[in-house]
Amino acid sequence: MTVFRICIFLIVATTVILAEVWLATNPGSVTIFWGDHRIDTSAALFLHFFIIFCLLSAFVYRAWVAAKRMPKQIRHRNFLGKQRRGYEALSASLISLASGDSDNAMRHAKKASLLLDSSASAELLAAQAAQLAGDTAKVHETYHSLRQKPETALLGLRGLMNEALRVGNHSEALRLANETYRLNPNADGLWLQRLELQIKKGRWSDAEETVVEAINRKQLSLKTGNRQRAAILYERACIAERKSEKDLQLSLLDEAVKLEPGFIIATVKLAELLGLEGNVKRADKLIEKLWSKSPHPSLAAAYRAIKSDLDPLMQVKRIEGLASKNRRHFESYLAIAEAAIVAKLWGEARAQLKIVLEQGDPTSRVCRLMANIEEGEFGNIDQSRYWLDRIASAELDEVWLCNNCGFQASVWQACCKNCGDFDTLLWARPLRVVSLPDYQDPSI
Ligand SMILES: [Zn+2]
Repeated sequence: MTVFRICIFLIVATTVILAEVWLATNPGSVTIFWGDHRIDTSAALFLHFFIIFCLLSAFVYRAWVAAKRMPKQIRHRNFLGKQRRGYEALSASLISLASGDSDNAMRHAKKASLLLDSSASAELLAAQAAQLAGDTAKVHETYHSLRQKPETALLGLRGLMNEALRVGNHSEALRLANETYRLNPNADGLWLQRLELQIKKGRWSDAEETVVEAINRKQLSLKTGNRQRAAILYERACIAERKSEKDLQLSLLDEAVKLEPGFIIATVKLAELLGLEGNVKRADKLIEKLWSKSPHPSLAAAYRAIKSDLDPLMQVKRIEGLASKNRRHFESYLAIAEAAIVAKLWGEARAQLKIVLEQGDPTSRVCRLMANIEEGEFGNIDQSRYWLDRIASAELDEVWLCNNCGFQASVWQACCKNCGDFDTLLWARPLRVVSLPDYQDPSI
C-alpha cells in the first residue's frame, strides 16, 4: 500500500514539475479589458492565480460549513457526555441494589433518571431500591409513573401486579393482570398468572376462557389444556350440584369427560348422576370403558352404587363383568375380592387376593381385606390381627398425591388443599418416610 502511495506521489510530483517547466518555457500571454483598464500578463501567472483562487474558495467553504455545524456538534457531544454519566449512574445503582445498599441505589437511580430523561430502566431500579428499603409508597408512585407512559405501561402494570400479589391482594392483582392482558396478551407467563388468580377467586368460567385462549395462542399444549379445562368444568359441576342445578351439572360433567376421557372422578360423578336418572346402560358403559384403560377403586364403587339394590351375590357377578374389561389388573382382583367379602364368598375372596399376593408384597388395603376374611370366615382373631399388624410395614396404597407439595388428599380436587396449586393431584403411590435412629457421637 505504501509503495503504491509513493508511486502515486512520484507520478503527481513529476506531472506538476513537467507542467511548471512547460509553463516556464511557454508562458503565453493574457490581456484583460475591464472598462477603461487593460491588464497584460502571462497565461502561466494567470493560471497560478486561478488555482490559488480555487483553493482559497474551497477552504472558505469548508470553514463556513464547519462553523455552521459547530452548535449541533457541541450539543451532540454534551448529549453523549450526559448519556455516559447516566449509564454510569445506572450501573452504580444496579451494583448498590445487588449489594443491598438501598439508599445509594435510590440516589444513583434518581441521578440516572435525570441524566437519561426519566429512562424506564432508571425508574425500575428506583422502584426496586424503594422495595429493598421497604418504602411501599415510593414503589407504588414509581410503578404508577411507569404505567402512565405508553412505552412503559406494561412494566408499570406488572410491577403493580407483583406488589399486589406480594401483599396478598388477589382482587387487585387480578384486575391489573386483566389490564395487562388487554395491552399485551402474549406477555410471558401472564396467562398463567391470570389463571391462578381467577382460580383463587373462584372465577371458574373466566379461568376456562383463559385456558382456551392460551391453547389458541399456543401458550399451552392441547393435551394439558384439555385436562385443565376438564378440571375446571368439574369444579363448575360441583357448584351446579350445590345449587341443585342438575341439568347444568350433567352437561358440564359430560363435557369434562369428552375433553378428558381418562378423568376418573368426573366419570364417577357422571355415571352416578346418570344412574340416579335411570340411564344405567350409559352409566355402566362409561365406567367399563375407563376400567379397560385405568381401573380405579372409585370406579368399582360407583359401578356397585349404580345398582345398589342388587343382592351381594348378584353384585359379585356384576363386578366380575366389570373386571373382565381389564382382567389382569390388580384392581380387578381387588374389586372382585371386596364384592366377594360382602357376599361372604370367602373362598372366592381368598382366591383373588392369593393372585395379588403372588404378584408382590401386599399393600395396606390387601392386608385389611385379608384381616376381614380371617375374621369373617373363621372368626380367627389372631390371624386377623397378624394381617392388621402387617399394615404398618406393608406397601402404601395409591392415593391422590399433590406433585407440588406431596400432600395426600382423600378425594380429588382441582386445587390442592394444602398448597392451593391447580391441577397437581395425581393417583400415585406415596413414598414411605422412614425415620432414622438418632445419631450418637461415638466419641461421647
Ligand atoms: Zn399441594
